[in-house]
Amino acid sequence: LFANLSEAEPDAAFALIEAYKADNFPFKVDLSPGFYRDEDARPWILPSVEKAKQQLWSDSTTDHEHLPILGHTALLDRAQSLIFGATCKDAATIASIQTIAGTGANHLGALFLAKARRPRSVWISDPTWINHHEIWQWVDSRIERQTYPYFNKQSFTINFEDTISTLKLKAKEGDIVIFHGCAHNPTGIDFTKDQWKAVAAVCEEKNLVPFFDVAYQGFATGDLAEDAWSVRHFFYNTSLEMLVAQSFSKNFGLYGERVGVLHVVCRTEIAKSKTLNMLSRLSRAEITTAPINGARIVAKVLGDADLKQQWQKDLLHMSHRMKSMRKRLLDALLKYQTPGSWDHILTDIGMFSMTGLQPDQIRQLKGIYHIYLLPSGRISITGLTEHNVEYVAMSINKVVTT
Ligand code: PLP
Repeated sequence: LFANLSEAEPDAAFALIEAYKADNFPFKVDLSPGFYRDEDARPWILPSVEKAKQQLWSDSTTDHEHLPILGHTALLDRAQSLIFGATCKDAATIASIQTIAGTGANHLGALFLAKARRPRSVWISDPTWINHHEIWQWVDSRIERQTYPYFNKQSFTINFEDTISTLKLKAKEGDIVIFHGCAHNPTGIDFTKDQWKAVAAVCEEKNLVPFFDVAYQGFATGDLAEDAWSVRHFFYNTSLEMLVAQSFSKNFGLYGERVGVLHVVCRTEIAKSKTLNMLSRLSRAEITTAPINGARIVAKVLGDADLKQQWQKDLLHMSHRMKSMRKRLLDALLKYQTPGSWDHILTDIGMFSMTGLQPDQIRQLKGIYHIYLLPSGRISITGLTEHNVEYVAMSINKVVTT
């Protein structure tokens, strides 16, 4: 029955993680996954998360019951305030549901839109997080996946004019447009505030449906409000219905706990009530209820002034480390006079940068130097440490110059 199934390539990111694990070379470097790593390239448990866990688990009334279908109530409230702003005046019209992390929020949002609106097309940035295409393809292959030309690979800048004209000329009323709220994956470059304003105006003029994917709030610049600026601009300054997929994987370091929320901004209370009804049914049919453990941790940290303050320090710690590694890598590449354009490494935001390295050079980095990065040439800055950054720059220089 299943023998004729078509076989797809294994997921490039997860295949590299396995290959890296199996590599016995003592100085191997992993620049592929989007997971924060500490000064010794090890996973980091945020001190705020550690404290919240201790408080939660020392309470003997903490049980393992189901959450409600919509999820952990305090998490939903606090997640809303976090992304839309503490004085979120229109909260009465936002339908929020807990999801299986950011991926689940993207997936449930796509499923909801496919069932509720049956859009003609979804517009996705070129390039993007690999899973956007996967998700939309599996949810409904009849919805045409189109791309807007976000990134100029030669200059490592945003193709702003082309993005605007693509949306203006080709997108049709009711089409979905996926935006990365901040710290665009994989390019590390975001629209400026003026550019966001222009993009919002086009969405409003054409009545498009913005779908924000926010996987890096606070983690990008260390400033929660700054990283939510794009979403808040659309929310407060347009009357568009819109979606936000919110992940707590990166900014809380809770990767395996799978904590996320999907928000659908409905603009009227009747639309909100119908949306919640449909989201509940879709989620019930898929997962019944979302996981409780990580939801409790995030809700606890966001609801406790001391823990929240500690969390903001943790975010700054992560973003400062990434910024300093960006500088160290750029300095080392310049020291070796490595041919190519590298200045953007310093100005890119968040975890990722594109290197412009070619497939053969990427293969050499892995084969000869045991340095792992995605086939697209994207590097994850968090894999860099004081111990390996020089080695990485030297190896990049070697593959570029030989
Ligand atoms: N969206 C973007 C842009 C991402 O980069 C990621 C993770 O890499 C996600 C969503 C999903 O994150 P998760 O499902 O781990 O919360």
